[in-house]
Amino acid sequence: MRRRRLVRLSSGPDANPVSALRIILGDQLSREMSSLRGLDPEQDVVLMMEVMGENTYVAHHKQKIVLVLSAMRHFAETLRQEGVRVDYVALDDPDNSGALTTEIQRAARRHAPDRLVVTEPGEWRVLEMVQTWGALTGKPVEIPPDERFFASRARFADWTRGRRTWRMEHFYREMRREHAILMEDDKPAGGDWNFDAENRKALPKATAPPARLRFLPDDTTRAVMALAAARFGGHFGDLDDFGWPVTRANALRALEDFITAGLPRFGDYQDAMKAGAPFLFHSLLSPALNIGLLSPREVCAAAEEAWRSGAAPLNAVEGFIRQILGWREYIRGVYWTLMPDYLERNALEARRALPSFYWTGDTPMRCVSQVIGDTRRHAYSHHIQRLMVTGNFALLAGVAPHEIERWYLAVYADAFEWVEAPNTLGMAVFADGGQMASKPYAASGAYIDRMSDFCGSCAYDVKQKTGAGACPFNYLYWAFLIRQKDRLAHNPRLAMPYRTLSGWPAERQAAITAEADAFLDGL
Ligand SMILES: Cc1cc2nc3c(=O)[nH]c(=O)nc-3n(C[C@H](O)[C@H](O)[C@H](O)COP(=O)(O)OP(=O)(O)OC[C@H]3O[C@@H](n4cnc5c(N)ncnc54)[C@H](O)[C@@H]3O)c2cc1C
Ligand code: SF4
Repeated sequence: MRRRRLVRLSSGPDANPVSALRIILGDQLSREMSSLRGLDPEQDVVLMMEVMGENTYVAHHKQKIVLVLSAMRHFAETLRQEGVRVDYVALDDPDNSGALTTEIQRAARRHAPDRLVVTEPGEWRVLEMVQTWGALTGKPVEIPPDERFFASRARFADWTRGRRTWRMEHFYREMRREHAILMEDDKPAGGDWNFDAENRKALPKATAPPARLRFLPDDTTRAVMALAAARFGGHFGDLDDFGWPVTRANALRALEDFITAGLPRFGDYQDAMKAGAPFLFHSLLSPALNIGLLSPREVCAAAEEAWRSGAAPLNAVEGFIRQILGWREYIRGVYWTLMPDYLERNALEARRALPSFYWTGDTPMRCVSQVIGDTRRHAYSHHIQRLMVTGNFALLAGVAPHEIERWYLAVYADAFEWVEAPNTLGMAVFADGGQMASKPYAASGAYIDRMSDFCGSCAYDVKQKTGAGACPFNYLYWAFLIRQKDRLAHNPRLAMPYRTLSGWPAERQAAITAEADAFLDGL
């Protein structure tokens, strides 16, 4: 019964004349989308399409596929209940052609609309498709901007003008002022812009992470889970623990849960890692934000309100708002300003193939196996796990940027290229040579040991720098600095390690390089 309502079989032109064919893509699931502005339920049709191409251009984690398809189906139902005519092409519709562009052509024939309307897509790849739709359908295509973000693409491009480097912190302060968030008159709340120095604590052994709200799959989600298991069984990731919100109502409940259970200690422990506790005090809101179930504005407003009402301290609230108003907006700006060449960057000339344990988690390095295991189970890991464990390893090992970038795009529920690619290329593996980060986020095992409880039961010894049984992050770190000396030694933020290195005799440096090479060749 439900499926018949979702699937509209293609036939001849629409009986009622269609004014606008309004297209909603899988990450545009908000009633506030600019493409729905002025929607006339009598004259317009909303088109939504589940296509193989969007699920397989990289082999997405099964949970990401379920998240997007289930949320699309729920959103279509919400629109229908409002009286909107929705043409929904399901993945298993026998006439489904498998790609967005060919589905647009079919829909244009079906409805003969006067015009197409689609909010600018989040990814370059999709924008290139959209730009062909006018010629292919013979209809005018309106592409209004995506207004869910605080900063338009033009606003970010303006900000970069005349700047040699683009530091997030400078952009963030402008956003705080411009949007009057966490401000007291024209001063930052609490007198400081940034409370990061208070936000780098390891988790005390006695501190138990809070239970987090997860959502049991409803009928719609279960149907999509069965579809995903049948069609995408070979993709990375498990489905058993699927718990992401797929409706706006549940996304709002997830936000509320974070504000009470996570936010008060988010700041203190945002960099901490603990075996068996992948979520800690993080918000888990990126999947809902990225597909449109929540808006960044309402999330920041809820966090600010928690501080103003005394429910959360300023270091936590500022730290959290910086992630969204600062990092998320900045990353999107970088993406749209530097694409499409950005994806080709490889400033450190890294060429190694991605080790197979990124897919299996099968490695004695406990930090890596733990993070990859959680990723497989939840399609999630938090920022420091991505940056300082899997990202750090790829950087130190010299994995080719394109390979690690495609991996991140494949394995997370929140992975969309506009946010994933700059984080991977710019932050994790320094492939842009410092456009975003002032130095590579390279670290030895000591960092992971300080911020986690992984090392205690690892097969390797984090205190041992070289030799059998030494933590690989230790010698890989020094071998990386030796290998990249010509490119990085002049970086003032790396002055200290390069000073240490300059005190080591050539034989010691050669021995470290040989040990690192032997380890990497054995992967
Ligand atoms: C290599 C790498 C790849 C990443 N790929 C993605 C991705 O595909 N999609 C994605 O949404 N985030 C990505 N991030 C950023 C960040 O890791 C995730 O946003 C975060 O872990 C999501 O979990 P959370 O919602 O619990 O975040 P929280 O820690 O609770 O942070 C709150 C929110 O801030 C935003 N945010 C935080 N850090 C960043 C950041 N660096 N860039 C952009 N937004 C940020 C997210 O919307 C997040 O939901 C990546 C980071 C790295 C280092
Ligand atoms: S000892 Fe090294 S490899 Fe093992 S968990 Fe610690 S940092 Fe990771």
